[in-house]
Amino acid sequence: MKLTVLMDNNTYIDQYYLGEPALSIYIEDGEENILFDTGYSEAFISNAEKMQIDLGKLTYIVLSHGHNDHTRGLPFLWERYNLDGVKLVAHPSVFLPKRYMGLDVGAPFFRQDCLAHGLQIVDGHEPVQITERLTFLGEIPRVTVFESKAPVGECVDTGKGDFLLDDSALSYEGREGLFLVTGCSHSSICNIVLQALEMSEQEKINGIIGGFHLLKTDQQLTETIRFLEKHTTGMLFPCHCVSLLAKLEFMKALPVTEVGVGLQMEVR
Ligand SMILES: [Zn+2]
Ligand SMILES: [Zn+2]
Repeated sequence: MKLTVLMDNNTYIDQYYLGEPALSIYIEDGEENILFDTGYSEAFISNAEKMQIDLGKLTYIVLSHGHNDHTRGLPFLWERYNLDGVKLVAHPSVFLPKRYMGLDVGAPFFRQDCLAHGLQIVDGHEPVQITERLTFLGEIPRVTVFESKAPVGECVDTGKGDFLLDDSALSYEGREGLFLVTGCSHSSICNIVLQALEMSEQEKINGIIGGFHLLKTDQQLTETIRFLEKHTTGMLFPCHCVSLLAKLEFMKALPVTEVGVGLQMEVR
């Protein structure tokens, strides 16, 4: 598969794309053109245009979870392009209104808005096979003991803590192992790794790109690095919601590449 970072918090020197604290990754695999997350604003669309990527030819849109730094760009996309018949892979909780520190942080649309714009919703509660080698992992079981189980804000409808059950990721069955594409990893990066391994015949992860949701240097970070040392063989591309301090800790133990808007790679 070919993967292009359309939006991330980071931009590279001398490459004049727009950045914002959000994520969007464009993936081509076989016949499918897949948009994984849609950034926070219309900026990912302008980046795609500069990169000569035609978002009018999408066949899939995959939402990692409902937070607006991953979903708020979608209405800009349907204003710009005809999305009739494009499949939208989303866990049902993506559409739940979410609040964090008094701010609305959920998706700025409901299911019916997506249907009204011609999207075909594919239930992401269960795994979804997108191409022969690319799978959406569905709801991620929370099994590790060292990863945070704290809610992020609350669900507006219930007023109860939001555990982001919608949070998931993509797994690509490469020749040398699995390659994962994550959004924010609220379900926790090691749980995602375990789910991907469980669902395949592979024994190792050959690479991960995306948010790992690791901001502090604490016990969770230490244990996560130890876990990834055991289960990964290739390159890590931590971005979006990984702090500089966390990245530095990763680099002491594992191969890490800096991510920015415009990063392109072929995963085999
Ligand atoms: Zn999030
Ligand atoms: Zn995020």
